[in-house]
Amino acid sequence: NKARRIRLMRTRLLQTGDQEHVLLLTMHHIISDGWSLGILIDEIAELYAALKEGREANVPELKVQYADYAKWQRDWMDGPVYEHQLSYWREHLQDVPVLELPTDKPRPPVQTFHGAYEQVKIPAALTARLNELSHSQGATLFMTLLSALYALLQRYSGQSDICIGTPVANRAREEFERLIGCFVNTLALRVDLQDDPRFVDLLMQVEDVTLNAYGHQDLPFERLVDELGIAREKSHSPLFQVMFTLQNASAEHELRLPGLDLELLPSVMQTAKFDLTLNLTERAEGLVGELEYNTDLFNRDTVHRMVGHFEMILEAIVAHPHLRVSELPLLTDKEQQLILREWNHVDASYDYEDTVHGRFEKQVAATPQATAITCSGQSLTYSELNARANQLGALLRARGVKPDDLVGISLDRSLDMVIAILGVLKAGGAYVPIDPANPGERKQFILEDAACKLLVTHSSVGDDIPRGSYEALYLDELSDELAQQPVDNLEPNAGPDNRAYVIYTSGTTGKPKGVLIPHSNVIRLFTATDQWYGFAQDDVWTLFHSFAFDFSVWEIWGALFYGGRVVVVPQAVAKATEDFYKLVVEEGVTVLNQTPSAFTQFIKVDEMQCDQQTEWANRLQLRYVIFGGEALDFSALHTWNERHGLNQPQLVNMYGITETTVHVTYHRITGDDLAKRASLIGRPIPDLDVYILDSHMNPVPVGVPGELHVGGQGVCQGYLNRPELTEERFVDNPFGATVKRDNGLYDCLYKTGDLGRYLVDGTIEYMGRIDHQVKIRGYRIELGEIESTVSQHPGVRESVVQVWTDDNGDRHLVAYVVSDRADLDPAQLKAVLRKQLPEYMVPAFYVVLDELPLTANGKVDKKALPEPEAATGTAGQYIAPRNETEEQLVEIWQEVLNREQIGVKDNFFDIGGHSLLATQVVSRIREQFNVELALSVLFEDPTVEGIALHLLEAELGGTDDDELAAMLAELENEPDNDPE
Ligand code: AMP
Ligand code: MG
Repeated sequence: NKARRIRLMRTRLLQTGDQEHVLLLTMHHIISDGWSLGILIDEIAELYAALKEGREANVPELKVQYADYAKWQRDWMDGPVYEHQLSYWREHLQDVPVLELPTDKPRPPVQTFHGAYEQVKIPAALTARLNELSHSQGATLFMTLLSALYALLQRYSGQSDICIGTPVANRAREEFERLIGCFVNTLALRVDLQDDPRFVDLLMQVEDVTLNAYGHQDLPFERLVDELGIAREKSHSPLFQVMFTLQNASAEHELRLPGLDLELLPSVMQTAKFDLTLNLTERAEGLVGELEYNTDLFNRDTVHRMVGHFEMILEAIVAHPHLRVSELPLLTDKEQQLILREWNHVDASYDYEDTVHGRFEKQVAATPQATAITCSGQSLTYSELNARANQLGALLRARGVKPDDLVGISLDRSLDMVIAILGVLKAGGAYVPIDPANPGERKQFILEDAACKLLVTHSSVGDDIPRGSYEALYLDELSDELAQQPVDNLEPNAGPDNRAYVIYTSGTTGKPKGVLIPHSNVIRLFTATDQWYGFAQDDVWTLFHSFAFDFSVWEIWGALFYGGRVVVVPQAVAKATEDFYKLVVEEGVTVLNQTPSAFTQFIKVDEMQCDQQTEWANRLQLRYVIFGGEALDFSALHTWNERHGLNQPQLVNMYGITETTVHVTYHRITGDDLAKRASLIGRPIPDLDVYILDSHMNPVPVGVPGELHVGGQGVCQGYLNRPELTEERFVDNPFGATVKRDNGLYDCLYKTGDLGRYLVDGTIEYMGRIDHQVKIRGYRIELGEIESTVSQHPGVRESVVQVWTDDNGDRHLVAYVVSDRADLDPAQLKAVLRKQLPEYMVPAFYVVLDELPLTANGKVDKKALPEPEAATGTAGQYIAPRNETEEQLVEIWQEVLNREQIGVKDNFFDIGGHSLLATQVVSRIREQFNVELALSVLFEDPTVEGIALHLLEAELGGTDDDELAAMLAELENEPDNDPE
């Protein structure tokens, strides 16, 4: 209603040579669409020819104008068909999930529409076969290609409920056909791939969905989005995130002007309307077009691979249309070779033909007088340790221990603990570590489950072990008897394939389960990793971890297989980081193994020592710090890096699982890693394979997450007494690349339950536990990704993000942060996060802790985190409403948020609001104020005060559609020097 001079079309004629010109034509979509372009070209041709020939142009008079169409559409929207179509779409699109394709970069909180495209060329022969397939199934080429695209997206996302957008010309009435204007409409086509359909069945479904959509195509898309009350996230486009278009070359209007040679120049687009848009045109030479992609999300090489996978699918469906979606081959031969073979090179030459105690005995012979072990001021040389272990071994044999027998050990961290481990092994048995610090119930469960007949313990801990059908050997009471045993090595009775230990792991559900590890697994762990470390006699290790956690296996034998010294860290010292730090300095420790959680504490103490220049400052002699046990957040290493760099000591991340013998992968941490949000775990140890597979055991492409499966010589013999669970977790290896041992034990894969993906160079990125993925309001959320963003905040040392369900059953994200600063302001932290993360990933609640609770194994104990009090939201000081508008708004918020006191300066998103609730606020404002508030206003100014101001402006006659206003303003501001 305001008179504006708006230029929606712009032309430039550039002279590039005597006889050569370039015509630039720029039009806004608001006045045109693809169909309009054809009309425009036809009319220009006619006008040009007429002008040249000096005749009257033959351009037909228009029967109607665009305004007539607009009026017609408005009337239509008041009619009954509108309601009918609306209810169709409501049903079709109810609760449609967001398509979460794996992206190369974290999704920005607000879409920027930066884009690029990758060429797509489908050869004529394949195109012909695609047409044949379409005909034979009574479908169109469009439907076949669209079906293939669903299949591709399913395989990339793992989702089975997928919606793709496609444009329709929407020129329903003949009189609209000659009009230039924006008629085009968008249809959201949703299919269900839950049952892993055969391709032909998918095609039938797509045909159905498409035809139905055509039958209800008049409802304008933007209207539909409003009507459905879709939560508009600024990070995603609503309803669908991928678009597909197929153009018909015959519909392309060739530009022909008399006396001129014309050629269409390609236009370089640097925008992307959606995450992905596949544009194809059918021509004589085949299907040509491009895959347009958002460059904030995807790297070029990823999209290039994606195009290759799309072609693989097309090849497959013409040859085998009855394959299921999961069966369609995706990887090219080259990719298969790379992922399955080159990145999983198996070197079988590693020595594993030894026993743990056998290898130790060789080291005793080599360095008998070297100190093997230290604990609280006491030490033993290799020969002393060996002698005491031999005596215990002899006694255990005398009590009937035979190869593979399970012997419990429940001892505090002490020299005796290591003697006991060696003694059990020398007797031929396998040890079952039972941490005295564990609850009695767990200890009893383990003893009973393992059916240990003997328990090696100490009278000081033994009393609290529940009595059962086992015999307890109290080392302190047996000292006389032990002293009478021979000190010589025992005649070996167990070999490499016999059990060495059974460690109980909790797993996420149910009872602990015993993991059976043979001697050879431990032997090869060291030979296969030796190339990286070169552990030696002058190394000093700490036994920091409980012997019931398999990191301890690495710590003990990493020292004792090489003539090094292991310092047993008493429980109390392990828990007091400052004491532990002093121990590391004073003992001259060179190899330190840590969970990332424990090391964060260590960094803090190190920083303090250096700052205060204490006598322990700058005296670390570490060669290696090896991380394991949980995801490493690289950003936690910044301050360490500033003081020590990453090479001295060398920081290494090793991913591993009890079932695969301590470690699986190796990643040397570099400076580049520190800036990444990804937790990189590197490449498998050479005698192990890692396969990243989808739920149908297909290898996934680079960049696509899948479940990590581990094969090779570290895989264990299964679970004790749990055949079904063993069968479930240890599956046949379909790739057959692993080395077969006589007993066939190694030709299987362990399903880890961990998510990961390959980077282009074969490095694996760890992405969390499969069962820890959370969904909130339809969005799949990786808590780890939020955690690492939170941790990057300068005041935050550590963070854990969890889901918390409030009394109303609403789920919220809670950030637990450990800060160095007393004045960390959660509101400010949240404000920063909202700039970095999509709204649905920003935690609603913040709990500042002095430190994170840890489990006995040194991992974060998520169950022990406190519940946030709803009151700890980041609302500011209370200010009551000051006028009627604010009062009404406060009432709306109170209802929507189900909350009593709301101040006019409270941030909607801080007091429990989220995007879904935001749409409710908008619709209530529409009802009460009769104003169409753009949802973006609520995002940008989420206070009662701010909204009230906007309402006031709207009342004063401002436009109520900010986006249009901004767009028009932009157009008006463009340089204005061409003739009108
Ligand atoms: P456990 O068997 O107790 O050692 O636990 C194994 C689990 O710890 C793995 O399945 C992973 O979820 C996790 N884990 C171990 N090492 C790492 C690592 N370096 N990065 C991330 N997660 C790890
Ligand atoms: Mg482990």
